[in-house]
Amino acid sequence: MRKDGPGLAFYLSRTNRYSVTALVAAVEHYYPETSITFFSDLEELGKLDPGKYVLALSFSSFDLNRAYPLISHARARGFTIVAGGPHPSARPHELLEKGVKHVVIGDGERAILKFLHGECALILREPVYDLENFPPFAINHGMYMPVEITRGCPFKCAYCQVPNIFGRKVRHRPVENVLHWIKEGIKRGKKLVRFISPNAFGYASSDGIHPNVDAIARLLEGARKLGVEQLYFGSFPSDVRPESVTPDVLELVKKFCDNRSIIVGAQSGSIRVLKKIKRGHDVETVERAVAMIRESGLTPHVDMIFGFPFETDEDVEANIRFMERLIKSYSARIHAHTFMPLPGSEFENMPPGKLGKRYLKVLGYYAARGSLDGMWYKQEQLARYLDNLKREGEYEDKGRGCAGTFRSLQDQGKS
Ligand code: SF4
Repeated sequence: MRKDGPGLAFYLSRTNRYSVTALVAAVEHYYPETSITFFSDLEELGKLDPGKYVLALSFSSFDLNRAYPLISHARARGFTIVAGGPHPSARPHELLEKGVKHVVIGDGERAILKFLHGECALILREPVYDLENFPPFAINHGMYMPVEITRGCPFKCAYCQVPNIFGRKVRHRPVENVLHWIKEGIKRGKKLVRFISPNAFGYASSDGIHPNVDAIARLLEGARKLGVEQLYFGSFPSDVRPESVTPDVLELVKKFCDNRSIIVGAQSGSIRVLKKIKRGHDVETVERAVAMIRESGLTPHVDMIFGFPFETDEDVEANIRFMERLIKSYSARIHAHTFMPLPGSEFENMPPGKLGKRYLKVLGYYAARGSLDGMWYKQEQLARYLDNLKREGEYEDKGRGCAGTFRSLQDQGKS
């Protein structure tokens, strides 16, 4: 971008900070002369000059009630708008109809650089690229986040947007590159390190599933040697697939990390539901992983999703029995979620998740005893909110959404 060209004004909200940090990091690294500013609401947007800034909005479906008024206000004032993130990736044509000039699908870093370079297609979709080409932090702007060590997921869980947005090829940031950025963070006083990955224990493996123990050891030991004071792996904001849990990786976590629990994705205790949601593992695999975590001396923190519209009474009872077994036999904690039909996922057109009385009673009982946590109530409300928007026509799948777009790109060999 020319020095005298327009700058970028990023929409910053409570829910998009990680995406914005990654984008700012790419821009400041490759086009350091670009003027960058931020806005969070209509008042701050009102102070920006459309002649000086292009607006960049990255947002999820749950931020629609803030993002859409901003877009219509900005459009009325003549701003050029570029949108990306989970919702625009799933609904590119809806965004174009709202007056957005360019929509980025999937990975945003290279697309925003190309845009700054003057490549201005209506829909910008870059083939997947290596993470090490982009810094994980926007150091010049003082923006830090957990280091993204893996992007993309080889699985295709039907309720999840990740494989459609980032592809099914796993891309790992090499150990040396992660350590380089950790060192840069430490120089600036950032001594607490967390990681982002769809499956932390699959880090640096060729399939994203079977642990590369040597690479994980080099990563964790290397981070400690650099002076990291608090190190978290296999815990928030990442979790771990049950088939990736092995005693040697658990030993590494115990030796080098501060987290005393591992978040493992189970999602259901009913084999029928596991098959329907295409998790790709059975109930026994989850129980084996949970037992191994407990055996290692760490606490298993088990993700479960309740309220799928196709759950039968038998599924509900299977879930409750499974949950109780994990709590009683392995002192596990349950991390409870309510199903949300996310745009861009295979289940996007399903009704919102709903928790019946039986679930509410059991979840409340274990939450009160400290064996269960999560945002299941809030997620049930969010799922309803999304469904209402769909009914009001605020967003809709016109057969050209994420899944369709991705399929057609894959057909063309571009994904
Ligand atoms: S839920 Fe996790 S394992 Fe399943 S597709 Fe999404 S990121 Fe991959």
